[in-house]
Amino acid sequence: MLQAGMKMCGAPPVKARRVSGYPRHNRNFGLTSRICRVKDGAWCSSAEREVMLEPAPLLEIDDLRVYFKTDEGVARAVDGVGLRVDSGRCLGVVGESGCGKSVMGLSILGLVPAPPGFVAGGAVRFRGRDLLSLPNREMRRVRGREIAMVFQEPMTSLNPVLNIGDQIVEAVLAHQRRLRRREAWEMACEALASVGMASPEIRMASYPHHLSGGMKQRVMIAMALVARPALLIADEPTTALDVTIQAQILELLERLRAEMGLGVMLITHDLAVVAENTDDVVVMYAGKLAECAPTSRLFDNPVHPYTRGLLASIPPLDGSPGRLEAIPGMVPRPHEFPSGCRFKNRCRWAEAICDEEPVLAPIEEGHLVACHLVARPALTRRDAGQNRPCDTGAI
Ligand code: SF4
Repeated sequence: MLQAGMKMCGAPPVKARRVSGYPRHNRNFGLTSRICRVKDGAWCSSAEREVMLEPAPLLEIDDLRVYFKTDEGVARAVDGVGLRVDSGRCLGVVGESGCGKSVMGLSILGLVPAPPGFVAGGAVRFRGRDLLSLPNREMRRVRGREIAMVFQEPMTSLNPVLNIGDQIVEAVLAHQRRLRRREAWEMACEALASVGMASPEIRMASYPHHLSGGMKQRVMIAMALVARPALLIADEPTTALDVTIQAQILELLERLRAEMGLGVMLITHDLAVVAENTDDVVVMYAGKLAECAPTSRLFDNPVHPYTRGLLASIPPLDGSPGRLEAIPGMVPRPHEFPSGCRFKNRCRWAEAICDEEPVLAPIEEGHLVACHLVARPALTRRDAGQNRPCDTGAI
């Protein structure tokens, strides 16, 4: 495969069938996904061809339900979530701790411990393949090679008794077994350099306790990206870092996304991180989606009471006085979710109708909200507060 005279994929020479069936370079995937394949022994009709030319989502989650069996009952950690991530775009997943964000990220890679966890339904499609039905052997190939994950807590995710070099080389050789150790070592050095680590050759001999939190996080990102995956799931990648290192790590992710055409799912509880670094946002509450929208639209026009509560709890940058608002109460435990709207025990606008479960419905293009008051704006008129859920021009 060539682009602008440069070789992108296929050296040493690989069979055309291997490139078209299993493209490694993102651009090759774009090209091969447009090949009109033989279907049932005949060429596709022109209508089918049009459908095939539509850009397919990189990752598509449809009505995903992940539950856990516990002594206290079934915990519905993720309960009917649907979203998509496209190549080169960043989707932010926000919500308080316990909303199911991390479980959703783990279930994409089949990493939910079973038992007690199990997938109760739904689909996770990556480049059209249903990951939930893949056998373990194939799923191991997807992990790291096609979808990588940066876990929370870089301090505890690295092996304390192996040096950094050995850990990255292990990740390289897990996906490219034919490489010699020396080649893998060079790739590991390049990966460290690509994430902005100074003196990568020296750092390769360091142990995790020699590194700062920001350096450990860079190592984790280098390990995740060394196999050049198409999708990166970053679960709270900046939680334990101070703000300057946080900014550097986010800049690094943004640069790698632009250079590699990565699709990124950024899981965080930090709305400031989401506002600066994502294209689209989904707000999760108690295992369900409360609101989804392009990032700028969500921040300009937040509608769901939970989203508004989260935004109202951020200190204003203009330094205006006044107490910050807090959402009363806590996220309910997953086996104690109330019936109807799961936010009703904390929502100041709860009505009798909220005993029925709201559905996620569009209020404008690309902006979906799961709240009864959106469909019945008259219900909110009695509330003269500024923070009403439906007092926007969009409704
Ligand atoms: Fe609040 Fe009712 Fe909307 Fe739920 S459905 S967020 S309880 S107003």
